[in-house]
Formats: sequence, structure tokens, C-alpha cells
Amino acid sequence: MSDAPRFGNLIGGEWVPARSGATFESVSPADREDVVGVFPRSGREDVGDAVAAAGRAFPAWRGTPQPARGDLLRRAAQLLRDRKEDLARLMTREMGKVLVEARGDVQEAIDMADYMAGEGRRPVGETVPSELTDKVCFTWREPVGVVGLITPWNFPVAIPSWKLFPALLAGNAVVLKPAEDTPLCAARLVEALVEAGLPAGVVNVVHGIGEEAGAALVDHPDVRALSFTGSAEVGRLVAARGGQQLKRVSLELGGKNAIVVLDDGDLDLAIDGAVWAAFGTTGQRCTAASRMIVHREVLGNFTERLRERAEALRVGNGLDEGVDVGPIVNDRQLRRVHSYTEVGLGEGARLVTGGAVLDRGDLGRGHFYAPTIFADVRPAMRIAQEEIFGPTVSVIAAESLEQAIAHANSTAYGLSLSIYTRDVNRAFRAMRELQAGIVYVNAPTIGAEIQLPFGGIKSTGNGHREAGSTALEEFSEWKSVYVDYSGRLQRAQIDTA
Ligand code: NAD
Repeated sequence: MSDAPRFGNLIGGEWVPARSGATFESVSPADREDVVGVFPRSGREDVGDAVAAAGRAFPAWRGTPQPARGDLLRRAAQLLRDRKEDLARLMTREMGKVLVEARGDVQEAIDMADYMAGEGRRPVGETVPSELTDKVCFTWREPVGVVGLITPWNFPVAIPSWKLFPALLAGNAVVLKPAEDTPLCAARLVEALVEAGLPAGVVNVVHGIGEEAGAALVDHPDVRALSFTGSAEVGRLVAARGGQQLKRVSLELGGKNAIVVLDDGDLDLAIDGAVWAAFGTTGQRCTAASRMIVHREVLGNFTERLRERAEALRVGNGLDEGVDVGPIVNDRQLRRVHSYTEVGLGEGARLVTGGAVLDRGDLGRGHFYAPTIFADVRPAMRIAQEEIFGPTVSVIAAESLEQAIAHANSTAYGLSLSIYTRDVNRAFRAMRELQAGIVYVNAPTIGAEIQLPFGGIKSTGNGHREAGSTALEEFSEWKSVYVDYSGRLQRAQIDTA
């Protein structure tokens, strides 16, 4: 058994082991021998305890004035600001993204806490005219109750914060099941809330494996809303099982995002954007660009320059100065990424660079993969249709704006699409026609800011948006209130003349 530090679940304000005593390890993807911590491998009974604790804490939290709930988030934001560097370093160690990106991940949580703290003092509803005299109508938001949050490893602080902070501001009690690859990042985030003064039981954390702890949370009848970010495959399961109990289920799923580069686009800018969007976070972003749809006129030039830039990237431990691309999160993902190289070759695409596991020297300690480019890719090929979630990009030729847009729209997903053009008419046509929740012009597919709604269409989700002005929607119910002070029965639609 590892002598790494041991951590508990947070249930009713206490950090406790799984009832069964079972554990799992969080291991650094840059170094298999670096065990970050040992965590409870929770089961149904632990999830039951957490949901019960949340249920007990809910009435008092619901009764806490919303500005006071916001003030608590403001204190948590300050704690996260104070700890930003430590938390970023932990993140790089636990899931691999390079330090500069890990700092951005923590900053996103700080931004979200600040934003939600401000929301604490904003209006919660509308005053609406009545069709009858001496009658007022208004709406307000109410919390849903106990909500279950299930999060992935690729934004291990930001994504939990996108769910936790709005859910809490709206007055819900929460059970969080973080990804099994990044339990410590989630625990540190929640610690900031606890230290900021969150009452015991309002947030509970249950660590564990998706099929065990995650599934138990989805199934628990007292969890009235589920917010899930992860793969489309698991998202479908969560929707089906949650739907059986008529829960509110909001899903943020995968992507197969594309950058369109037209012949009039700024090629230098497009290359910078392509390198960042394809290989940043080792391609493990839901908004990563894994397709480059390039006008035939500039295709050769673009592909060659992308190759040069990809080959110049330094792959290594994200904690090391000067490293551009960190490891793949775990061995299973590494094998999956490599399997897509074989798929691409089998489909007849041309491997321009990469396509190999990197295991020389220190890289052999972790899960590293070479930045990989395929050219001569046809839009229908699997490598151009399926989410690989690694540093693998497909270059696809287009003859016109219309064809480029058709290619961009040709996958099941619809998260983030971008276009490089200097022609304002083409830019606006693309904004209208690109089928995605997020569109960028002259910028890559990544770069979302928390004050805008975030989410996708088609198989990327089920119609919800996180963050921005929509952040509270998934975590609150609307109540419509009618007050008749006429002293007589007034019938809507009938006594209106
Ligand atoms: P995943 O679906 O494997 O796991 C996500 C979470 O679900 C984890 O906490 C996991 O333990 C849990 N889980 C797994 N099986 C479960 C089950 N049967 N029941 C309940 N919970 C279960 O995804 P991942 O590998 O952690 O993350 C990568 C995926 O997330 C990619 O597809 C990526 O595109 C997507 N993602 C989407 C967004 C977005 O906002 N659209 C953001 C980040 C990541």
C-alpha cells in the first residue's frame, strides 16, 4: 500500500473514509510512481450518506439570504486567489496540463466565484403585468433541492466551480462526484468553500469510480437535479437513468471542433490559433480543435507550417519550465489516442507528423504522445468524426466558404467552431451557418470567458448552458406568483373585457 497521503469523502462536514474501507489512488500522468493521494472508493451507501447530509443541510441554506450566499462565494474567491499557485501546481501534478494553463484553470474558478458573488445581489425574477385589475404578478427563482454534480478531469477546478458556485448561490445543497483522475483538485476547491464558512452538509464530496459512486448518485431518488460534464457515452447513460426518475439533467458532452481557414484569412494568426487549439492541454479540451478545414489555395502552406510548429513543441512534464505539451491523462487514454492513429492510417489519411507514444528518457515515466497531424483527411473518416481527446488533428481541404461550413457542420457534435477570414460578409455568414454553441472569428476554438453562456448543440448536450447569464437556470425552478387584491373572484381569460 502506498504511503501517499490519504483523503476522505466530505459528508456532513466531516472528512471520512468509504464505509467499505476501499480506496483508489490518484497518480501523476507525468510520473507513474508519483502517487498524489489515496481516496475513498465510495459505494451506494456512501452516496446515500452524502445525499442524506445534503438533505438535512438544505432547509437552512435555502433560508440564507441570497446576498449572504454570494458573500460566502466572494470569500472563497479570495482564498482561491491566495492559493492560486499551489493549486495550479497540484493540478499539473495530478492531471498534467502545463503550469500556465493550470493557472488559467484556477483563474476560471476565481472568475466564476466573483461573478456568482455579484449575482447574489441581482434581481431574481420579474414583475409582470396582469390582464386583470388590482392584481400583481411576479416570478422568483427557487432552489431545486439536493443536486448531484459529476465532473471530468480535464478542467479539474474550473468545471466543478462552474457547477458548484451557481448551484450554491441558487440555494441548493450539493453532492459532488469528481473525476477519479483528479480527486485532490476537487477536494482543494471544496476546502476553500468550507473555510469560507459554508455550513456543514451544504457541499458533500463523494470520491470514487464512475460506474459505482457516479451511478449511485444518478440513481438516488432524493437527488432532484443532475449536472454532468463528460463523454457523450456516459452522458447518454446519465440522461436515460436520470430521465427515468424525471430528474432535471443537464449535460455538457464532447466535441469535434474545427477551425476554418479561408484563402483571405491571416495565415500567421491562423497557425498560432491552430497550434494553441489543437495541442494546448494536449488536445484534451472539450473545445480543442481536432479538425482544420483549410481552403485549397492555402492548404499546402498551412499544413507545412503547422507541421513545423508541431514538431517544435516541447513535450514533457508540465511542471518543467519551457514545456509546451504535457502528458495524456492516463494509460487508457494514451492507448485510445494511439488507436486513432491506426484508424487514420487504415482509412488512408496521410500521417504528416507524430503518431507515436513518446517514452524516451524521463518521458518513459509517464503517458506522453507526439503532437500528431493527419492530412488528406476526408470529412467522413472516423478520425474526422469521433472525439479522440488527444493531440491529434486532421487537416481537411475545402474549395469554398460553403463547403468549409458544410464540412465543419458534418459531425454529430456542435460545441465550438472558428473561422479565419478578413471578409466581414463571409464572417457573418459563417457566424450564422456554423452549427455550434460557440463561434469564434479570427480566434481559435478555445478561449471561453465565464460571463458568457457555455455549451453546445447536437450531441454536445441537451440544451442547457453553463456560466454567463444562464448559469442559474439548471439549478433553480421558476415560481410564478399571482396576488389578487380586488377582493372578488376574477377569472383570467374570461373577465378581461
Ligand atoms: P467520462 O464521461 O469518462 O467521465 C466524466 C465523469 O463521469 C467522471 O466523474 C466519471 O467518474 C463519471 N462517470 C463515468 N461513468 C459513469 C456512470 N456510469 N454513471 C455516472 N457517472 C459516471 O469523461 P472524462 O473522460 O472524465 O472527460 C472527458 C470528456 O468530457 C470528453 O468527452 C470531453 O469532451 C468532455 N468534456 C466536455 C465539456 C463540455 O463542457 N462540453 C467540458 C470538459 C470535458
